[in-house]
Amino acid sequence: MSGYPDPVTQLPDPGPTGGERHPSIVDRIAASTTPRVPFSVEFYPPRDEAAEERLWRAASVFSELGAAFVSVTYGAGGSTRDRTVKVVERVVRETDLLPIAHLTAVGHTVAELREMIQLYADVGVSNILALRGDPPGDPLGDWTPHPDGLHYAEELVRLIHEVGDFHVGVASFPEGHYRARDLDHDTEVLTTKLRAGAEYSITQMFWDVEHYLRLRDRVAAVDAEQAAKPIIPGLMPVTSLRQVRRMVELSGCELPAGLSERLRRAAGDGPEENRAAVREVGIGFATQLCERLIAEGVPCLHFNTLNFSRATHEVLTNLSMVPSTGVGAARS
Ligand SMILES: Cc1cc2nc3c(=O)[nH]c(=O)nc-3n(C[C@H](O)[C@H](O)[C@H](O)COP(=O)(O)OP(=O)(O)OC[C@H]3O[C@@H](n4cnc5c(N)ncnc54)[C@H](O)[C@@H]3O)c2cc1C
Repeated sequence: MSGYPDPVTQLPDPGPTGGERHPSIVDRIAASTTPRVPFSVEFYPPRDEAAEERLWRAASVFSELGAAFVSVTYGAGGSTRDRTVKVVERVVRETDLLPIAHLTAVGHTVAELREMIQLYADVGVSNILALRGDPPGDPLGDWTPHPDGLHYAEELVRLIHEVGDFHVGVASFPEGHYRARDLDHDTEVLTTKLRAGAEYSITQMFWDVEHYLRLRDRVAAVDAEQAAKPIIPGLMPVTSLRQVRRMVELSGCELPAGLSERLRRAAGDGPEENRAAVREVGIGFATQLCERLIAEGVPCLHFNTLNFSRATHEVLTNLSMVPSTGVGAARS
């Protein structure tokens, strides 16, 4: 997903690490005991105290629900570096959630990337999602690598393995990366990243199951060995039309015409969209998409939560994946 936020200056004290190496994401999802299918969530580093409180409330709900892992995004060019580290460090120290720290190459020298990877190791992180990142300013603009940096995520996968003992994942794109020459090249890029040592991929969000299935087929056709690695679908239950339009714009993915029209009708013509009606459509649609993905045997469902738990909780409830004791209902 694009649109990764903004700058801070001070690095937190990493403190003692003292922990053991975390399990890999692949092992964790294989060992998950969540009903039906494992699920996981994405957080972004909060900007203020209120957002931070919301994040930790959501983390507590997802922990009770048995999330297989939580991934924490990294702002373009290191703009959330300190906050990303702070969040993953707190996840390690204070929760039983398994963190993945995202890392992007954009705007960094190789030396800075090495330092950042070491910092993750110091705070006890074993799982990193290796990403190229987008050009700062205009995420869909032309890509210019840092003169002393890396060109592509594949090189970052190799660098992470060079620096330490990590489990590495990468991004995949059911509709193709917006800058990919064509879908064949996009598939080649993904399999190259997997061959470089990535153990799984997490997809860009999508709303049409066919995009995911075609990606899976393309990888299988190109490289049967790499096709055995999990392709974890990235999902976002829509709760705001304005917000999802912005997401779609920033990521270059597509909102199917039928869904777009239903959301538009639900939003109404007033100055403020009818959020309750939009939510109902969005959550119903996400539930159906998840049902279809479960039927297709996906390894895990990964929810972009925007640090809220309620929408994901509702989808999981609809999927009968929430214990009947009603964990976390209506908390955030
Ligand atoms: C699950 C997920 C999480 C994300 N998290 C973050 C985040 O935390 N922070 C953030 O800033 N962004 C994040 N992003 C966005 C991501 O950084 C952008 O989509 C970025 O444009 C591509 O990153 P990548 O790692 O796929 O790059 P790459 O795999 O390097 O691909 C980037 C482009 O280069 C092309 N390419 C790759 N290798 C070659 C080659 N050898 N020769 C020619 N062309 C090549 C590809 O076709 C593609 O067009 C995330 C995306 C996803 C799907």
